[in-house]
Amino acid sequence: MSDYHTFTIADAKAFALAHGDTFRESDSLEAEEFGDGNLNLVFRVKNANGRSLIVKQALPYARCVGESWPLTIERARIEAEVLLRHGRICPEHTVKVLHYDAGVAAIVMEDLGQLAILRSELVAGKQFPQLADQLALYLARTLFFTSDFVLNGLQKKIEVARFINPELCLITEDLFFSDPYCNHERNAIHQPIMPQARELWHDEALQAEVARLKADFLSKPQALLHGDMHSGSIFISAEQCKVIDAEFGFYGPMGFDVGSFIGNLLLSYAGQFGLQEDAGRRQQQQDYLLRQIEDLWQHFSHEFTRLMQTETKENSFRNSEYQHYFLQQLLADSLGYAGCELIRRTVGLAHVADLEQIRNEQQRAASERWALALGRSLIMQRQQLTTIQQLLTLVRHQQ
Ligand code: ADP
Ligand code: MG
Ligand code: MG
Ligand code: MG
Repeated sequence: MSDYHTFTIADAKAFALAHGDTFRESDSLEAEEFGDGNLNLVFRVKNANGRSLIVKQALPYARCVGESWPLTIERARIEAEVLLRHGRICPEHTVKVLHYDAGVAAIVMEDLGQLAILRSELVAGKQFPQLADQLALYLARTLFFTSDFVLNGLQKKIEVARFINPELCLITEDLFFSDPYCNHERNAIHQPIMPQARELWHDEALQAEVARLKADFLSKPQALLHGDMHSGSIFISAEQCKVIDAEFGFYGPMGFDVGSFIGNLLLSYAGQFGLQEDAGRRQQQQDYLLRQIEDLWQHFSHEFTRLMQTETKENSFRNSEYQHYFLQQLLADSLGYAGCELIRRTVGLAHVADLEQIRNEQQRAASERWALALGRSLIMQRQQLTTIQQLLTLVRHQQ
């Protein structure tokens, strides 16, 4: 760790030149730091021919808060190794990591600047017909091939130990499962929805279900998760879809990744009430979002079932009744975590542009109330929602 220093522009250039095979000594390089994330530095390094690489460096603290919130730079190793594992399993949809250096906690990766961040595109009302198919494939493959269906007991435990990620998991444990359900100083609550936020602090039935989801997050190492599957971690174009930013990766419940993403599609749906004034276009965008959720689950469950039937290594798990049960529970878990995502993005510390960009205060509050109510329904009813069509009906009827 003694090599560690925060990168300057010159350091980022030298690092990209030394690793990644894209640049030559004779190149005149330009670089800028442009990260808009909460935690890290992100540089783009370019040569005169327009070829470019990304350098991402972990800071020893959380960027959005500052040095008063120390955070391990080990997260760069987790990010690099999760992306490399996922990249081997699903190269089509994982950003390519070219180099990782533990001493400076920095990664060189391909520049995806020709694509756009999904969240901004959805806020702008854009549609990507292949989004659900692409992410269903990414989720089904990365989750299946890092699970007990494939790894033997020995390999699995070594992998679980390799991806213990205590500090970043603790952030999720707090922000996702604890803060929104009590009067915590980290919460950021839009004044008009204070009464609905307060209800969460006293809703013991809801808190009991959130406790069950949190307990699984803590103690159900089913697969190597991405751990931060929100629409700001996805680069998209008409043809391509690539996942980035895996520093929250660890072995956890599969439904957490699936549910985080479904939760983000539902946050986009909620935002449309206030972002899109034209009723016809709003309806069209919301229909698109529901179709993506339906297709995501349909393609995910189809691919996951195919993999269970053809690629399962462990005899005990070839049992088809067990496989059916596994997928049913995975749907329930996913809907529960989607509900938690809706709630924590509305009243917790980290908000989303899908709601924040609604200019009219009353309309924003209406979208936020809708998100909270749907989140609660999902968490409470997740075991009874046994098909994805039942979820769609619930969303359409949510007041
Ligand atoms: P953080 O962990 O701080 O959230 P991210 O990995 O999400 O960092 O990156 C922050 C921003 O940097 C992204 O929203 C995107 O704009 C840019 N970025 C990150 N990785 C790449 C990449 N491989 N290609 C192009 N831009 C990137
Ligand atoms: Mg990010
Ligand atoms: Mg970001
Ligand atoms: Mg990140």
